[in-house]
Amino acid sequence: MLHSLLPAQFVSQNLQTPCRCPECERRFVYQDGVMSLAHYREVDSGKVGQALICFCSTTCLLGWEHPTMLGLMH
Ligand SMILES: [Zn+2]
Repeated sequence: MLHSLLPAQFVSQNLQTPCRCPECERRFVYQDGVMSLAHYREVDSGKVGQALICFCSTTCLLGWEHPTMLGLMH
């Protein structure tokens, strides 16, 4: 269970995982990024979904989200 993890173990193992920013495609590790509930459109169905997505910066998060979708999150 998540609450049973020691924070030090989580930082040393999981947050060093490399990933690629979906907005600017820059490579970074999770601990340097910004995690947010964000919206995306499925290519096949055109439906809008939600997921936790990690971006390299807050700037890229704001660039990814349509302004009207950001309004729905508050
Ligand atoms: Zn980025």
